[in-house]
Amino acid sequence: MLLDTHGRTATDLRVSLTDRCNLRCTYCMPEEGLRWLPKPELLTDDEIVRLVSVAVTRLGVTEVRFTGGEPLLRPGLVGIVERCAALGPRPRLSLTTNGIGLARTAGALRAAGLDRVNVSLDTLRPEVFRTLTRRDRHHDVLAGLTAAREAGLTPVKVNAVLMRGVNDDEGPALLGWALEHGYELRFIEQMPLDAQHGWQREDMVTAAEILDRLSARFALTPEVVSARGSAPAERWLVDGGPARVGVIASVTRPFCRACDRTRLTADGQVRTCLFAHEESDLRAALRSGAPDERIAELWRDAMWGKGAGSGLDGPSFRRPRRPMSAIGG
Ligand code: SAM
Ligand code: SF4
Repeated sequence: MLLDTHGRTATDLRVSLTDRCNLRCTYCMPEEGLRWLPKPELLTDDEIVRLVSVAVTRLGVTEVRFTGGEPLLRPGLVGIVERCAALGPRPRLSLTTNGIGLARTAGALRAAGLDRVNVSLDTLRPEVFRTLTRRDRHHDVLAGLTAAREAGLTPVKVNAVLMRGVNDDEGPALLGWALEHGYELRFIEQMPLDAQHGWQREDMVTAAEILDRLSARFALTPEVVSARGSAPAERWLVDGGPARVGVIASVTRPFCRACDRTRLTADGQVRTCLFAHEESDLRAALRSGAPDERIAELWRDAMWGKGAGSGLDGPSFRRPRRPMSAIGG
């Protein structure tokens, strides 16, 4: 098991498949993009499957989420999903994506064994989408969402980040739209993980503010607290349920005490947290011929050192060296 000194057990693995992306969301990366990892530094498909296999068969991981960068840009994605779905015990498999290209691949991903998707969509207005992501692809995301639902990659969750003065007025409209289409909406507080260091605490749209605005149009009842478990989203029933809305308040209401995550970057580094400052190099171990048990031991050691919290709420907070897109959000 992946235990730490604060009594937590990590069972949920986030795997970044690439640091590249075809959008340039302003809260994530600069217009010109970033210096992408050179190909030899990326884990190969075989290496990814081997590490997931170690996590699932030796370390108690039960959930695997593929992310990035944009994971749909990874040519071997369908094969990776298929091989991970064949592991025993079979992990639950999901994908966090911006949805571009999902219309083409949703069926193949489902057939390969993907259980569900989270699609990021921050606005219903194409022109705001263009400003926010610096690309004119709103239509592709909507098509991807429809395809995901039709392929059975359900429940389809939609992740939205609200930015002040850009789309902070869209919360209720996004929720109304999600209810109408059968998507489960989750708002994510903007975190200081953009590569260009533009995040300002004072500017951030807080969970309290989001809930306030939603409450003007919908009746929100908190789901019983114990149901939150280790999931980061606090959830509310909308108009009595069964539909729900989530808010991931990583900044104003951190959920570190219940965290069950472990992360693997596209270049094979284990991270204990989005905000960690240290990484453990599993790629080097893999490439030097280490057996599975040695890799498992390195992973266990890394997680044992997991810090108590993100530090986001304290004055001594320091950003991690890698931005969100290179960690795997
Ligand atoms: N490209 C995929 C996508 O956008 O869904 C997967 C990677 S992206 C880094 C994962 C999630 O992180 C997305 O839902 C995105 O909105 C969110 N995200 C990116 N930068 C963020 C930030 N600074 N604060 C909060 N969420 C952020
Ligand atoms: Fe790309 Fe996702 Fe970052 Fe947007 S949030 S730039 S889609 S990695």
